[in-house]
Amino acid sequence: MKSEPELSVLFTRDEIAAAVSRLAAEISRDYRGKNPLLIAVLKGSFVFLADLIRQLDFPLEIEFVRLSSYGGGAESSGRVRMAAGAAPRIRGRHVLVVEDIIDSGLTAAFLLDYLRRKKPASLKLCTLTDKEARRRIMVNIDYRGLTVPDKFIVGYGLDCDEKFRHLPDIYVLEQ
Ligand code: 5GP
Ligand code: MG
Repeated sequence: MKSEPELSVLFTRDEIAAAVSRLAAEISRDYRGKNPLLIAVLKGSFVFLADLIRQLDFPLEIEFVRLSSYGGGAESSGRVRMAAGAAPRIRGRHVLVVEDIIDSGLTAAFLLDYLRRKKPASLKLCTLTDKEARRRIMVNIDYRGLTVPDKFIVGYGLDCDEKFRHLPDIYVLEQ
């Protein structure tokens, strides 16, 4: 028999909002007047991106990429692929990658490497959450929101089998 997954709150919406405001202030300080290109990784980052950009009161552009390192489950396969059709103009732009979570680091490392070869003027990484204990490859995080324990989290854009993305708080999913 399959038991129901259990959710316990890790970060409340207020704690998330405080982290987003702090990141927005840091990003504003560094990118105002540079017309940055924010590249968000689908699907998990869309809620974070939506809240973040509404606190950035200067010209910027956004783009989305889709990568897959996860099948349906909670373990990374270690492989990442760029979704077809995602080809924003990168050359000469100040590019900021926006992630929901850095876990093994494989996804971010792949994407940063891919983008670096397209010769951006600058390239940095912003993540709402950092699951540092699980890192398998070094990635430099320029803007870090919240540090999370080695647990599977859902809510605020993050899913488990496409569920829970709509929850306003971040939860640990006990399986
Ligand atoms: P990485 O390549 O760093 O191992 O994994 C990055 C991606 O794995 C994230 O963008 C996210 O889609 C997924 N992921 C990693 N850890 C979690 C987690 O705790 N919860 C959820 N929902 N997704 C995760
Ligand atoms: Mg993701």
